[in-house]
Amino acid sequence: MFISKSFIPILKNNPSEAKIKSHQLMLRVGMIKQSSAGIYSWLPLGFKVMKKIEKIVREEQNKIGAQEILMPTIQSSEIWKESGRYEDYGEEMLRIKDRQDREMLYGPTNEELVTDIFRSSVKSYKSLPQLLYHIQWKFRDEIRPRFGIMRGREFYMKDAYSFDINDEEALFSYNKFYLSYLKTFKRLDLIAIPMAADTGPIGGNLSHEFIILAETGESKIYTDKRIFDLNSEGTKLEKKSLKELREKYEQFYSVTDEKFDKKEFEKKISEPNRLITKGIEVGHIFYFGDKYSKAMGASVDLPESKKDFVKMGSYGIGVSRLVGAIIEAKYDEKNEVMKWPISVAPYDVSIIPMINKNDISALEKANKINFEFAKNNIEAIIDDTDENFSSKIKKMNLIGAPYQVIIGKQKDGDLLEFKEIGKEAKRINLVEIIKIIKEQKAGN
Ligand code: ATP
Ligand code: MG
Repeated sequence: MFISKSFIPILKNNPSEAKIKSHQLMLRVGMIKQSSAGIYSWLPLGFKVMKKIEKIVREEQNKIGAQEILMPTIQSSEIWKESGRYEDYGEEMLRIKDRQDREMLYGPTNEELVTDIFRSSVKSYKSLPQLLYHIQWKFRDEIRPRFGIMRGREFYMKDAYSFDINDEEALFSYNKFYLSYLKTFKRLDLIAIPMAADTGPIGGNLSHEFIILAETGESKIYTDKRIFDLNSEGTKLEKKSLKELREKYEQFYSVTDEKFDKKEFEKKISEPNRLITKGIEVGHIFYFGDKYSKAMGASVDLPESKKDFVKMGSYGIGVSRLVGAIIEAKYDEKNEVMKWPISVAPYDVSIIPMINKNDISALEKANKINFEFAKNNIEAIIDDTDENFSSKIKKMNLIGAPYQVIIGKQKDGDLLEFKEIGKEAKRINLVEIIKIIKEQKAGN
């Protein structure tokens, strides 16, 4: 992609309305454009990143055996009346009437709709477990939409739902999602900590929020520093292994605000390991048993002519919020340098040729390099404008492709100036550059 032809409307200065760095950068490099309060259009740069995040989220859902569906954004109020949430949900729900005067709503979440789908086709325990997910826009009329897409009114979410025969099997499903979340966030190069959380309006008694540390986060957290050394490596998709993974994390006290107990915190964590800070919630998982299946009559036949309501859980990831969360974690706002993780970077590499009116040889060289990149599935963005060199570098630092190839005046054979953002530049040849980038891409 050539900068001159791209739709990347970059601003010279930071927009004054943005209070946190992710919102600043997203407006600055034209990733999004506000359409009304808490509602945004996604422009090419932002959309590319979000689609890459979505792909990783999807792959990790598929790996635990979840099946993708797509439910509509507009729902009928009937099923919400069955569950009792039509009244309870309150003003966050956007309610609409159609031309027949039927009460409709824009879905803020999908427990009811998926339970309705389930009950209409699954009749026997032999079909369990069922893990279903979709990735779809949600609308919540948040009282205080802010921080750009971090707390929007319209936002993109992955939500999954599990259906099991009993508590033990349901816990197995819950733990599969727990693992898949750890893996998903790791692929996004984020350290997300699972924290015991309140279940809120969804109901039930077991819940974890996945939180990444950030000063600008809206969740207050109380945790043990040692939890940051853990990972999910070696965990198998088996009951015992998953249970051990949970236990490994749960040996460290780690909770959000609502669950905080000062006595317990001080008893379980020695002074130097205590950490009280803020974070961004990027995922949330719940187990709520038969709360919805009972209210909505979703039962299955068991052996010996018995019947029981299915046990359900639900599992959300804020796909659009993650775009902002990654920026909060990776953007060096002081030096105005963004480095996207290669797994979600809008471009793998930027090519920055020094061009002036009388000499376009650097641009020709850039085109040749781009051709070789494309052959190797490496996506590049090329600054083909005749702006001065330092403003070109500044621009590419904001766009945040993790690698840069800089083509100056001097001709020294095959060697190119190659830089990984945040590291020293080096002079190597194109074959080596391609090898480095390909290796990084393959690792994700
Ligand atoms: P919060 O406490 O931030 O309001 P929630 O508990 O209401 O979140 P869930 O219903 O569990 O959120 O939704 C799943 C995920 O969707 C959250 O973990 C978050 O990442 C994302 N999310 C929720 N509300 C918003 C919003 N208004 N804008 C963007 N993302 C959101
Ligand atoms: Mg909420």
